[in-house]
Amino acid sequence: MSTSEQLFERAKKIIPGGVNSPVRAFRSVGGAPFFVKAAYGATLLTADDRELIDFVCTWGPAIHGHNHPRITTAIATALEHGTSFGTPNPYEVEMAELIVRFVPSIQKVRMCNSGTEATMSAVRLARGFTRRDKIIKFAGCYHGHSDSLLIKAGSGALTHGNPDSAGVPAVFAQETVVLPYNDTAALEEAFDANPGRIAGVIVEPYCGNVGFIMPDTGYLQYLRAVCTAHGAVLIFDEVMTGFRQAKGGVQELEKITPDLTTLGKIIGGGLPVGALGGRADIMDHLAPLGPVYQAGTLSGNPLAMAAGIAGLRLLEELDPYDRLDALGRQVRDALLAAARKKGIPAQVPQRGSMFSIFFSPTPVRDYATALKGDAQLYARFFHACLDRGVYLAPSAYETAFLSTAHEGEAIDRACETMTAAIMSL
Ligand SMILES: *Cc1c(COP(=O)(O)O)cnc(C)c1O
Repeated sequence: MSTSEQLFERAKKIIPGGVNSPVRAFRSVGGAPFFVKAAYGATLLTADDRELIDFVCTWGPAIHGHNHPRITTAIATALEHGTSFGTPNPYEVEMAELIVRFVPSIQKVRMCNSGTEATMSAVRLARGFTRRDKIIKFAGCYHGHSDSLLIKAGSGALTHGNPDSAGVPAVFAQETVVLPYNDTAALEEAFDANPGRIAGVIVEPYCGNVGFIMPDTGYLQYLRAVCTAHGAVLIFDEVMTGFRQAKGGVQELEKITPDLTTLGKIIGGGLPVGALGGRADIMDHLAPLGPVYQAGTLSGNPLAMAAGIAGLRLLEELDPYDRLDALGRQVRDALLAAARKKGIPAQVPQRGSMFSIFFSPTPVRDYATALKGDAQLYARFFHACLDRGVYLAPSAYETAFLSTAHEGEAIDRACETMTAAIMSL
């Protein structure tokens, strides 16, 4: 078996940057990425036979920890019957029924293969439904990498200093209005400046791609009211928060009914999946019933559906959200205490199983305040943790994720390790 270093050398020759998704390359924190050959529970096993406590959780999906037997068994059972049929299959119906039951605003749902597909199609649907062109998004929110949405984007795009990607035609970008998150006046101005032209507003209801940022009290309610007043489609991008903050996502917690919701990550149980759903009258504008085209060779894939269904049923059985929030608070308190002791200003926004650390004296409530965090200090913290066996996201602008598998020994050890890492800075 090759070491991470050997694998990366080979990969760099034939894969751009040696990776299939940019943040994995470690460029913003420095150093070379490790390769993982196995993962179980809260642990990654690297190609170099190191065990790491994992706070990336495959960027969100692994809420039950890695390689959960209920999920792997479900995949194995489905696999006995074939990998893809290209026809409707029974799993798709079961998955749709689960999503409609759990997510309050979803009356109808269409499965696709990634979060990017889900948001791309949701935006097209909002445009087709309203017969308007302009979309509002918020700086630092990441909605995948389609042309309309890769503008002032978070996640890897921000990490690598290109939140506005090359290759997006200016005429496309003009149809996307970018506003600061948590700013009600800016929203009102944008609607006033574009009367009858805003098709929809897309938002991560809790932002997770610029570090973790919560909405101000009443902000999401305000978004709902403004969209209703102007006949614009409100799209909650819950690819990250769906089934993670609650079974019904942020919309359940905040009691808000968006018109469309995009999902991904957890609903695939670690296999590639996305979904968009919402009001039946809007969803019925999708082909074959309506004029908005959307399709996929592997959409509703039986293995992915089986994995996702097993994961969702487990969430229903365990209802782990209070336990996950307790883990989140334990980490937050440990990080804040260590930073205080060391005399480093730090913000640790956390809710449930999502948290992040900004080395900044300024509370973080939008993209501009997120950028005030000391990214170089984060890079040092990242490596200090990694050296000690804890893997956080290799970027100052990503959320950390917890799973039920972190409970017990792993979380205690991780808190001690992260405390030691902060003391070493
Ligand atoms: C991850 C993510 C996406 C993109 O999903 P992919 O499956 O990576 O294409 C979209 N929106 C949000 C909020 C996400 O966190």
